Amino acid sequence: MIRPAEGLSLVLKHARPLKAARRPLGRSVGCWLAEDVAADRDMPPADRSAMDGYAVRSADIRAPSSSLRLIGEIAAGSAERPRAGPGTCVRILTGANVPPGADAVVMLEQTEERGDSVTIFGPIERGANILKRREDARKGAVLLRKGTQLGPLQIAVCAAVGKSLPKVHRPPRISFICTGRELRDVADRVRPHELRNSNGPGLCAAAAQSGYEVAAYRSAPDDLGRLTTVLRQVARRCNLIALTGGVSVGRYDYVREAVERIGARVRFHGVAMKPGKPLLYATLPRNRHIFGLPGNPLSAMTGFYEFVLPALRRLAGAGAERCRPVLRLQLARQVASKGGRLRFVLARIIWGENGPQVEPVESHSSADLVSGGIADGVIAVPSDVTILRRGAVAEFRPWRPLP
Ligand code: AMP
Ligand code: MG
Repeated sequence: MIRPAEGLSLVLKHARPLKAARRPLGRSVGCWLAEDVAADRDMPPADRSAMDGYAVRSADIRAPSSSLRLIGEIAAGSAERPRAGPGTCVRILTGANVPPGADAVVMLEQTEERGDSVTIFGPIERGANILKRREDARKGAVLLRKGTQLGPLQIAVCAAVGKSLPKVHRPPRISFICTGRELRDVADRVRPHELRNSNGPGLCAAAAQSGYEVAAYRSAPDDLGRLTTVLRQVARRCNLIALTGGVSVGRYDYVREAVERIGARVRFHGVAMKPGKPLLYATLPRNRHIFGLPGNPLSAMTGFYEFVLPALRRLAGAGAERCRPVLRLQLARQVASKGGRLRFVLARIIWGENGPQVEPVESHSSADLVSGGIADGVIAVPSDVTILRRGAVAEFRPWRPLP
């Protein structure tokens, strides 16, 4: 049995970022950049007004008021450049380029326009309400580094510099295979000896919410021959396969054997954690990865967030140290563990006046989805700890995005 941290290092050692390709900006959120993104021109490209008002020569303005002759207007998007000579002003709108001659913008609220004369209630400082050319970046400056994950703001930066096809790592192709003769689909009728496949939809949702499309989602019976066939088929087209169930020591647990039959190399089988102990990790040539997750719903989900998601992030281009998100949150109630193994305790976030805290959710077993239904993730209790007291800071692993 491997320690969880060692297991994770092994996974991250074998998983390498996938090839980079250009991808439409509109489909690139969540992707990791495989190139630097630079400013294609000065930012801003010219002196720009930050306000609706009048472009003036600051030397013309005195307190308490000055009167200037209005000689024109520049709206945002207008290429006009009327020159502001002494004693004159130009009506200007937010985002318009400041005209030659002017060195300040007076906001509309401090003015009064009558005919072609504008009264300015001064004073005004030179440069006021002007976004200076280049004040944000010079042409050629790197704005986003290779290795950055594109979130909404980074997508906006790409758009601002004309990067319509950023070069990003290709997102991994994922398949899930659920094993178990007792499983029925969600819409099927279930008899007393059967149960609905909850891992499939749950894991597909976990992948989707983490930003990864699931290429295929299959089920397989507890039959070595058929499981091997399905696995072999799926492995041809995928970077990562996660199976659920059949990975323990039971008579009909065929996952390991099927994995070996298709030529994959088992890197570890068994992790010192609870739940999720029988987890298996294997590799195929060409950067392909197979995980066997235990069948119980909470074990399968633990395995997904502890090992599968980090592998997905690494394949997608995340730095190895950024692959498993952890939040450090204060405990609203104490958490107890038997110790001996790294323990994951279901937990939910409580939003208080001082920000989020986390509290444990009791559960009967790793099959207890009812408790799972009120949880937001898990608290990790290290193997050498038996109690984490209320008020202490604990490692919380989010299993959903926090609001
Ligand atoms: P296994 O790891 O195959 O021994 O399964 C352990 C437990 O998890 C058994 O009670 C299974 O019925 C249950 N289980 C396995 N696969 C699923 C699934 N896809 N959805 C819900 N429960 C499952
Ligand atoms: Mg089974």
